Amino acid sequence: MIRLVLASRNAHKIVELSRIAPWVEWLPLAPELGDPPETGATFEANALQKARFVHEATGLWALADDSGLEVDALGGRPGVHSKRFSPEGRDDANNALLLAQLGARTDRTARYRCVVALVGPGGEATAAGACEGAIGVVARGVGGFGYDPLFLPVATPGRTMAELSAGEKDTISHRGAALAGLPELLSRVGLR
Ligand code: IMP
Repeated sequence: MIRLVLASRNAHKIVELSRIAPWVEWLPLAPELGDPPETGATFEANALQKARFVHEATGLWALADDSGLEVDALGGRPGVHSKRFSPEGRDDANNALLLAQLGARTDRTARYRCVVALVGPGGEATAAGACEGAIGVVARGVGGFGYDPLFLPVATPGRTMAELSAGEKDTISHRGAALAGLPELLSRVGLR
């Protein structure tokens, strides 16, 4: 079995990544390592930065996910700043700020993006995924995390991402799409 250290402390991401790729033995990030830095300007730069940090600290193969929401009417924001969009940084505060910034606008198209980076002794590689949708006017649903109660995927008309089952989310999500590239990433770096 392939063993990868998951370079994340986001409990929701850990659940989703291990659900999408159960054929990987996911090793947790040791608490004493601290939080991997993410100071890049792009999802790819941040994913590589987090995975390199964990590989350098452990000597093991590491996989990082950097993801976020791009809203067209906001010029692509919150983008790489999705986690800390609001000063509070909590999901409910981020969602309230998003609704306030969009106000009564009708152009509400958006997409989730995810880049996964695999870094280890033999090299590094990245894969990207996206999920197209729009921002609703009221939050609905209790599944998922982050902006899911406001995000209406094109693929599931009338339902927010938070109203989908876990399996439905994984089938259409940006994270599912990025991880679909994992077998190819593993062969690119010679891991299988
Ligand atoms: P990161 O940890 O810097 O990659 O930040 C990711 C942030 O993007 C999360 O904290 C959420 O706000 C948002 N995000 C990423 N993926 C999802 C998702 O699948 N659903 C909802 N929000 C997401």
